[in-house]
Amino acid sequence: MATTFWHFWPEFNRWLDDVPDTRFMPLVIYDKRFLIWWGISLYLFQLGSRRQLDFDLDARGTQVLNNLNRLAQTQQETRPVHDTLDHFLEHTGAAPFAELRTRMLRRLIRMRSLDAGRLQGRFVVALDATGLLAFRRPHCPCCLVYRHTTHTVYLHQVLEAKLLGPAGLTLSMASEFIENSDSNAALSGEDRKQDCELKALSRLLPQLRQEFPQLRLCLSGDSLYACARTLQLAKNHHCNYVLTFKPGHMPAVWKDFQALLKLCPENELTCSTPEDAHQVYRWVHGLSYRDDQGRTWCFNAIECKETVNGQTTTFAWITDLNVDARKVKEIAEKGGRHRWHIENQGFNRQKNSGLNLEHVFSTDPERLKAFYYLLQIAHIILQTFEVGSLLRNMAAEFGRTPTQLFGSLKNIARRLLEAFRYFALSDEVFDRSRAGSIQVRFDTS
Ligand SMILES: [Zn+2]
Repeated sequence: MATTFWHFWPEFNRWLDDVPDTRFMPLVIYDKRFLIWWGISLYLFQLGSRRQLDFDLDARGTQVLNNLNRLAQTQQETRPVHDTLDHFLEHTGAAPFAELRTRMLRRLIRMRSLDAGRLQGRFVVALDATGLLAFRRPHCPCCLVYRHTTHTVYLHQVLEAKLLGPAGLTLSMASEFIENSDSNAALSGEDRKQDCELKALSRLLPQLRQEFPQLRLCLSGDSLYACARTLQLAKNHHCNYVLTFKPGHMPAVWKDFQALLKLCPENELTCSTPEDAHQVYRWVHGLSYRDDQGRTWCFNAIECKETVNGQTTTFAWITDLNVDARKVKEIAEKGGRHRWHIENQGFNRQKNSGLNLEHVFSTDPERLKAFYYLLQIAHIILQTFEVGSLLRNMAAEFGRTPTQLFGSLKNIARRLLEAFRYFALSDEVFDRSRAGSIQVRFDTS
């Protein structure tokens, strides 16, 4: 269980005490630290559904109760059932768990454990939205409504800002739910202007800036974000940006880009990757874009032509970072291409594993959000464990990588659950002085 997280685990437990729970009166009084760890366990052990808590984390003949007490620093004599968790979250609401996630990120940043992922001193924040839930019938007043020719779907989506750390770490930094507000719920059909990814960005970015006022940030987004709204928001909230540039978005600017590339042949860098891809980078400075409100924006643009096995693919980005032969590759990789991690290590992983992002963990929309944040918290702990040097060193003792040793991330999850059920976490595991002496590094190879 030892991870980077271990370095601030006692502090984490103190944060749990800050979660307000004044109105919560179950039959057995559970310490909230215990209940929150119970909730995090649902995702830490990737149980897939709330119901599995009752079966996979049963207390009879296992070390579960003992280990949970060790984690939460409590002395509960029984373990709760899954409904207790749902009931508890009804009273706390979702906000304290968003705050808990933010505190974890601040702590990881302060420990400097994510520094290797920085781009010219800035943390790269990938922006993207994903679907959470889909229903065939209206689910709540806030559902997004999409009418198809044969049927209508009711959706819940979320816009995520994920910090891209070293070794593919993709950590939830801020979340904004994309949903219709109650105030226009009375309007129906076409009268109702639905919420969307870009509108959600206008709410997310001020919130992100408020949570991390001093941090130097570089936003990374797909071509949907290459628009005046993002540029204005980035400016207002002091963020740099690297955004995917496609001919269809801002066609006049794209034409200028192509014409200018021919005029500055000296702006070129050729290189090869360890995977044998041949890359040609070219760039221009000072492209100008006039938006529909008459504002003029000025930025640089990068093109990368990559050839693998005779097949060439072209990528392009716009950025306000200063581009030259020394910096172009790093900007394109960390600012541009690593954005794909939000899709792969981020959304796909959360959907196609026991984290089960698209599962309806609660029937109530507010509690669903609380479960969403618990999932993000557990995934942060899991990621720091999976790419941390401790697991890597352990596997190295057998001459293997962690994935070679365990076969898959799914197997690692199963082993974690087995260990939690049948082995009592020892005093040694919780020895802070020992944890402090271990240097934990993320694999950046
Ligand atoms: Zn709904």
